[in-house]
Amino acid sequence: MSEDYERLLDRALEQVPKAVLESSRFQIPEAEVVIVGNRTILRNFRNLASALNREPEHLIKYLLRELGAAGNLEGNQAIFQGKFSGNAVNDRVKRYVEEFVICRECGKPDTRLERHGRGYMLQCEACGARASVRSV
Ligand SMILES: [Zn+2]
Repeated sequence: MSEDYERLLDRALEQVPKAVLESSRFQIPEAEVVIVGNRTILRNFRNLASALNREPEHLIKYLLRELGAAGNLEGNQAIFQGKFSGNAVNDRVKRYVEEFVICRECGKPDTRLERHGRGYMLQCEACGARASVRSV
């Protein structure tokens, strides 16, 4: 593991709410964001989606809607039309985790997102709780 990567992890850890850490030691990787011209590139998008154990298509749909931007996936990266700061993107990722990853009953991230009719259910593998979540 490179030093840079460890520093990144440390920084990501600092931004995770304490309650989440205490209950699960869950680490949200920090979004690596660069602005190129009028576009914003989230460089580690696919790593982020797989760390959260979520479909990249679900995560990007959420981010695009929350940022109010157009965009698409390109390889490992997500490209947004418009300029967004790292903070703005990380803030949305954090909210995504709170809404679509963390179990509301036990606070653990060991959950699956299952299609349910036109929406989704958040199924917790740790405590068995199910909760409906809004569609993105
Ligand atoms: Zn649970």
